[in-house]
Amino acid sequence: MTFKIPFNKPCYTGNEDKYVLNAMRSLQISGNGPYTKKCEKWFEEELKCKRALLVPSGTHALEMAALLIDVQPGDEIIMPSYTFVSTANAFALRGAKIVFVDIKPDTMNIDENLIEQAVTEKTRAICVVHYAGVACSMDKILEIARKYNLFVIEDAAQGIMSKYKDRPLGTIGHLGCYSFHETKNYTSAGEGGLLIINNEEFVEKAEIIREKGTNRNQFFRGMVDKYTWIDIGSSFLMNDVSAAYLWGQLEWKEIINNSRLKSWGLYYIGLSKLESLGVIELPKIPSYATNNGHIFYIKVKNLDERTKLLNFLRENGIYAVFHYVPLHSSPAGLKFGRFFGEDVFTTKESERLIRLPLFYSIKVEEINYVVNEIYKFYDKENIL
Ligand SMILES: *Cc1c(COP(=O)(O)O)cnc(C)c1O
Repeated sequence: MTFKIPFNKPCYTGNEDKYVLNAMRSLQISGNGPYTKKCEKWFEEELKCKRALLVPSGTHALEMAALLIDVQPGDEIIMPSYTFVSTANAFALRGAKIVFVDIKPDTMNIDENLIEQAVTEKTRAICVVHYAGVACSMDKILEIARKYNLFVIEDAAQGIMSKYKDRPLGTIGHLGCYSFHETKNYTSAGEGGLLIINNEEFVEKAEIIREKGTNRNQFFRGMVDKYTWIDIGSSFLMNDVSAAYLWGQLEWKEIINNSRLKSWGLYYIGLSKLESLGVIELPKIPSYATNNGHIFYIKVKNLDERTKLLNFLRENGIYAVFHYVPLHSSPAGLKFGRFFGEDVFTTKESERLIRLPLFYSIKVEEINYVVNEIYKFYDKENIL
């Protein structure tokens, strides 16, 4: 039996339908509507954060974070180079210089032991990325931030439902960002995001920035008698139909999470023999972190082997992918950033990583098929 397995199918449970219809029929569909409020309250209780704001995308959440900490031209922001463009763009848009720090090969996360040396007079913030929903080593990072008076922003776009030592990702730094893009674990109908605010001082300013720089929110709460332009801002609101879609998935959060973890585990067990034979490497979850099954990746020998394996899988109907050309080597990365120190792992590790298909509705037979095809490839190459 052969299959055609896409890399991703957006999470859709059927539980979304009634809320989406309800939102449409209520005719309250603009930002900050009933479902937005419901989702935000849910996140605030779940995450125990000061405020959670639904925004149009994870990218917008990061851009709001850059506005909130008031990044100025010439400020430096430390982050890994192995990340999605939005992590860097958000700060480059404010005129910041991006300082890329190498990653650790076990988690593909920023190496916390290299950050302190990259700090200069101009450093304003550290933006960590919890790759694959697996936490960075946060204690050390918070310690450096305290020592040099820096902000910590968590790009937890992939990190929903995951923890660092019992603390949900996104709630550890000053600000956290989630994404509900269709490739992520939960989606608000394709695009969406959440800004998590952990410090009271940012709450009012964030509500103003999200409402085009006005105090509309305070006006609706009866706190001021007219609303007006207060500060710079933009339209960072999610429409309420998207929030309704997301509500249907939040209600099913355990079912969705357990399903992903089960699929992740099947890949792990299925491929562990190849790891013990030294052919490939599997993801590592440090003891301080939990897993949310966002990404299942393998690391092969090198770029050449990766290209061959990806082609072989594609010929057999499996759409596995790789991602993140390291930002420091991209045209915009060269313009807006610099790499601090030596690139020991970023390029080397990114070139041998493959993401296997993993989504809510993937079937056991499909995972078994992918696993078997990978064994077939190594057999064919006479590596086994
Ligand atoms: C998905 C993602 C983003 C961007 O989220 P969008 O909702 O697509 O804008 C940012 N950073 C990381 C690490 C991501 O994986």
